[in-house]
Amino acid sequence: MAGEELIKRWDAYLSKLKDRYSEILAQAEEPLKEVIENLQYDNVIIINIKTGLHNQTVLQLYQKAEEGWEKMQAEIYKTGNIGLIKQEAAKLAIFRDSLETEFARFETELFARAARKILENVKQHINEKQIHRCTQCAADLPINIYSFMAVNIKCDSCGAVNTYQPDDRIRALEYYVIEPLAEEYALEEKLRRGKDKAAEKEYFKKYYTYLMDNVPEKRESYKRTLDERLNNPFFSQ
Ligand SMILES: [Zn+2]
Repeated sequence: MAGEELIKRWDAYLSKLKDRYSEILAQAEEPLKEVIENLQYDNVIIINIKTGLHNQTVLQLYQKAEEGWEKMQAEIYKTGNIGLIKQEAAKLAIFRDSLETEFARFETELFARAARKILENVKQHINEKQIHRCTQCAADLPINIYSFMAVNIKCDSCGAVNTYQPDDRIRALEYYVIEPLAEEYALEEKLRRGKDKAAEKEYFKKYYTYLMDNVPEKRESYKRTLDERLNNPFFSQ
């Protein structure tokens, strides 16, 4: 078979695997919708589903691509056009990159969808009026939904000191809700970070800024982590 013919075949093979990738995720959409609809206060089931889909798509399809490449390489070798091998091998690397990038996007969006549902549930099931009001005079206390830590707050109206004790569902918002939403907010930078040092820093800045803006109580702690990541060469490798 001539080199040109082989290239065509190889391109078609990779393109079929790409189609298969889209097909698998498209088929997963309906069941996923239902799973998200039934989430309560954590996303553990989503983690399991994600792992399964990652196996079916990124891992298995890349394995097929490698197997295809083995055969293709042997065929190209027979044509004597050895230069073609390097040229066509590059397509295997590009294919792997595109699978990984697209899956990272899918995964981030999936966890963000789950996060919005969990937040909605928490908001529905906690009585914000009760937990965010002064126990003495019922004035509003400056506590937002993302208050994960126990704090003592002096009421502006009557001066009583209230101990605010978030329940487990609220504590879990940090891990199940606000972090996935921050990942979504910084998604484009996150996807570029592997290839672009500047994007890596932009990603950290966007991610932690989102956390700082939404969780003022933990601002200092997020700020410290951000500074560490930006300045520590180990983290920015
Ligand atoms: Zn009060």
